[in-house]
Amino acid sequence: MIKIDVKDKDVLVRVDFNVPIKEGKVSDDTRIKAAIPTINTLLDQGARKIILLSHLGRPLKALNEDGSLNVAKFSLAPVAPHLAALIGKPVLFVPYVSGPEAEKAVAEAPSGSILLLENTRFEAGEEKGKQELAEKWAKLGQVFINDAFGTAHRAHASNAILAGFFDAAHKSFGLLMQKEVESAQKVLNQPERPFTAILGGAKVSDKILLIENLLDKADNIIIGGGMAYTFMKAQGGKIGSSLCEEEKLDLANELVTKAKAKGVNLLLPVDSIAADAFAADAKTQLVMSNQIPDGWLGLDIGPEAVVTFSDAIKASKTICWNGPMGVFEMPAFANGTKKIAEAVAAATKLGAFSLVGGGDSVAAVNQMGLDDEVSYVSTGGGAMLTMLEGGDMPGISSIG
Ligand code: AMP
Repeated sequence: MIKIDVKDKDVLVRVDFNVPIKEGKVSDDTRIKAAIPTINTLLDQGARKIILLSHLGRPLKALNEDGSLNVAKFSLAPVAPHLAALIGKPVLFVPYVSGPEAEKAVAEAPSGSILLLENTRFEAGEEKGKQELAEKWAKLGQVFINDAFGTAHRAHASNAILAGFFDAAHKSFGLLMQKEVESAQKVLNQPERPFTAILGGAKVSDKILLIENLLDKADNIIIGGGMAYTFMKAQGGKIGSSLCEEEKLDLANELVTKAKAKGVNLLLPVDSIAADAFAADAKTQLVMSNQIPDGWLGLDIGPEAVVTFSDAIKASKTICWNGPMGVFEMPAFANGTKKIAEAVAAATKLGAFSLVGGGDSVAAVNQMGLDDEVSYVSTGGGAMLTMLEGGDMPGISSIG
């Protein structure tokens, strides 16, 4: 249910159709599918016309040699027939981003139409958050729905700035955005305890703000993946050739000290699967994470770490997970991530709320077929990361 009156209104909907397109065809339609409940609900609630806005890629960063737009590569045209097939209704592609031609197409479309305008990022004013561009879009409808969680951390013309042209009775989140926001808030605002955050992935530097924000909220912070080795080295360990950010060693120690002071249980992997090369068929051995031999690199958490981490996860009532425990793309180093995904699924069965958000942990949970066994898998990598960091979310605050 969309909480505002849309009956007989032309409704502008900002969706996230930033999908991969290969040889003129959509190759992964997860994001298109995610927008369908909102579109159908608006039609069920009596909307007259649906006008969809989305960006696709970064067309202004990849212009043709003569400075023109690479329309063939960045047009949203292939998305219209794909959406039409999924939703079982015609979808009219409008090859204009904004302006009189777009207005004419909307005006001439019969009631009940679904229209998709061309890539919002074909206009330089989109990423600059230009008022004039947003104003042109605002003319196309009487109601604005923001369902593009993936760009909610940006103040672009087609999301936050466009929202400024509508009052509270004429703008709302779409259903996807509602779910994303509610899930993040469940974790961030008075989570049921114990609350365990699982953080992994390659670099500490990408996750500093996240760790700092969670230090004020979580009971346990589990650190795995490549980033764990910077912590190991900072604590005096030998990490061989494992991933390490030398300039973040002091920061890692500070975070450990802060965690202690705040009574947060910061868990690092005691053991690791080390490899003699960053390769799927490398030689491997089980080692203590603080005694990795020279020339070897930790590419996955070991069995003892799996047990410690899983025990903490299974005893939790709120879980948030961002980043894999190892190089899960290579089967030899996927076990830790798989076992952690299973622990999250088990905790969810026992009644915990689990949110998987941000980039590669989402890919990992999908790869392991456990996406249905966690409470929520976020569709917005960077946006969810920013939200969990406690950063600004203009796409959300502009709706209210
Ligand atoms: P991120 O985007 O920061 O979540 O990082 C995800 C990437 O981190 C994945 O591609 C993993 O392969 C990689 N990764 C995880 N663990 C390690 C590790 N121990 N060493 C190197 N890369 C890792």
